[in-house]
Amino acid sequence: KVRVRFAPSPTGGLHLGGVRTALFNYLFAKKHNGTFVLRVEDTDQTRFVEGAEEYIVSCLEWCGMSPDESPQKGGEFGPYRQSERKATYKQYADQLIADGYAYYAFDTPEELDAKRKEIPNFTYGLATREGMRNSLTLSENEVAELLANNTPHVVRIKMPKDELVSFTDLIRGHVSFDTNLVDDKVLLKADGMPTYHLAVVADDNAMEISHIFRGEEWLPSAPIHILLWRYLGWEDIMPQWIHLPLILKPDGNGKLSKRDGDRLGFPVYAQNWTDPKSGDLTKGFKELGFMPEAFVNLLAMLGWNDGTDQELFSLAELIDKFSVERISKAGAKFDFEKAKWYNHEWIKNADAQKLLPTVKAAFADQGVTVKDDAYLLKVIDLVKDRCNLLSDFVTQAAYFFVAPAEYDLAAVKPKWTAEKAAFFDAYTLLVTDHATALELEEKFKELAGTHQFKPGELMLPLRIMLVGGKFGPGVFDIALVLGAAETVQRIKNALT
Ligand code: GLU
Repeated sequence: KVRVRFAPSPTGGLHLGGVRTALFNYLFAKKHNGTFVLRVEDTDQTRFVEGAEEYIVSCLEWCGMSPDESPQKGGEFGPYRQSERKATYKQYADQLIADGYAYYAFDTPEELDAKRKEIPNFTYGLATREGMRNSLTLSENEVAELLANNTPHVVRIKMPKDELVSFTDLIRGHVSFDTNLVDDKVLLKADGMPTYHLAVVADDNAMEISHIFRGEEWLPSAPIHILLWRYLGWEDIMPQWIHLPLILKPDGNGKLSKRDGDRLGFPVYAQNWTDPKSGDLTKGFKELGFMPEAFVNLLAMLGWNDGTDQELFSLAELIDKFSVERISKAGAKFDFEKAKWYNHEWIKNADAQKLLPTVKAAFADQGVTVKDDAYLLKVIDLVKDRCNLLSDFVTQAAYFFVAPAEYDLAAVKPKWTAEKAAFFDAYTLLVTDHATALELEEKFKELAGTHQFKPGELMLPLRIMLVGGKFGPGVFDIALVLGAAETVQRIKNALT
């Protein structure tokens, strides 16, 4: 039975890497008729950020990948917030101590600080634990007394000496770590809360997780987790490991960060995120005008492909085609221009009806109230293949709602003549609502002939009369959507 989990810590906005992890979990679950669990890893109270959980839930929803089990939805393996599971972790810490795999450490923050000053790059572990105050160095009586007095302490894992921890990662193959190089991580903190390491293993076991998809940045933690699975007696039911490739800066130089987005002007968050401390707003893909379908599509291609040249996939298709074997080991470069290309393709191929609500809202944002949906649908169909972002509709189609106040006359003025004006006057009589764009064009050409003009000389003036400048789709398509009355009005406005 496939059960996977997305296990974010509610410490801020959900960035690209996070949503991609969620997506790969989701795709794998759906592909195998499994269960997609959202577990909130909120044991680090110092990093907890108000509102982050709601944000994560709404991002998943926007992407169309709602979890099957979550704090909101519940499920038979709940609760799904680690802070609400506190009671379950301590027994495992106790068990590990009893079995000699973990120990109490009573060192105060001051003592630890002093050590860090004394020993450069100090880590608590094999080489240093002898010189510290813990249940490995103190006598049984001393330890009993410290505990009886409620002396603040943590529980640390006791990394074994000279062992190789090996496991198979479904992307990376055989991976092994030398235990001498891994420090004695804290498992249970002085406040009784577990650290990530203990909680993640306890919960992956309790929630019967079958496959762990997570970012490559967690690979160094894998030996700790694998030892915990072993020490807690669960090694034979340990999940499969899949560490997803990093998402790199556009130039491939290092991991993508929020700062790269800020610097290069692209979002790294799925949705707008306002930092509750600073009040700073960071724009998200959603608000910038990405379709969720395009966003999910481009995320999937950050480290995965189906082995062909196909780049456009719907969520349903991704579920169908997804396979772990086709996830790459190498980091995936994030290129915002390419991201926009995906969105462009999705907008271009979308039904106008589907785009309507968002486009309407984008207009409303700019103070333009669209009253006639049927009219907006025509507009959308006409300009959608010129838009990379949903917000582009506002700039690409503004002239459909507001007649040009200014004309780019420089483009036509030098060659403007009274004869041309006479032509346009005559043309206004031929523009009717019953014509197709092609018919409007034919009448235009015929009349141009009668007036001894080449149609080409008159096309740009017509465009400028209708939209104000040298832009937009086919000019007769524009006239058709504007309607006869408005087209005639705009020609007349321009002539006077
Ligand atoms: N809570 C961890 C995070 O914030 C989860 C890592 C994991 O999936 O094991 O990414």
